[in-house]
Amino acid sequence: MQAGRAIGRWLGRVLDLVFPPRCLGCGAWGVYLCPDCLSDAHFLATPKTVGWGFRGEALPLTVWSVGLHQGILREAVHQLKYEGLRALAQPMAAMLASTWRQAGLSASGIVPVPLHSSRQRSRGYNQSTLLARALAAEVGVPAVEGGVIRVRATPPQVGLSARERLANVEGAFQAANCLQGMRLIVLDDVCTSGATLVACAQAVSQAGGEVVAAMTFTRAEEPG
Ligand SMILES: [Zn+2]
Repeated sequence: MQAGRAIGRWLGRVLDLVFPPRCLGCGAWGVYLCPDCLSDAHFLATPKTVGWGFRGEALPLTVWSVGLHQGILREAVHQLKYEGLRALAQPMAAMLASTWRQAGLSASGIVPVPLHSSRQRSRGYNQSTLLARALAAEVGVPAVEGGVIRVRATPPQVGLSARERLANVEGAFQAANCLQGMRLIVLDDVCTSGATLVACAQAVSQAGGEVVAAMTFTRAEEPG
């Protein structure tokens, strides 16, 4: 494991030499997210509570996000998710870690929101798992990969209302018994209505785990 990490770091440095990072915003060499472009990002100091008003026994859930889903932060999510720029997980997790500390969060594990196995196969990775691994290293709390699985593929949430989104993902997740008694942070890349996070948190609590809060890199404004 140690050797694997060392090789990973070494490989990262070699790749940086071959494909040096460029800022997603302005194209400056050296970093993916440069301080100038980040100074234009809309960072969020307060969490959002989701889960109220949904049918069934939905939990109210506190969601901490680094910033609004716009500008360079949205571009980072897009590049990590759809363009295969996995190296972004590290700087994004460093920002999540600073939100984690500002929020004073403490937990015994970080659970990434899973993709359905068919989507994970076609993408080759789960962006939330990459973020969870990198965040775990930053805050010293283990990532519980596979703690929650997606038992039902769900159509994309885009264009659905908050209520439709919850109906879409309700019962889509199943949590492992190993989560019992753990205090967990559920992690995803984006929060829109929070329906996915709430459905995931419900699965965790059904398995006997306690969801302390959820975290996402960005928070999107809900469609009207
Ligand atoms: Zn820049």
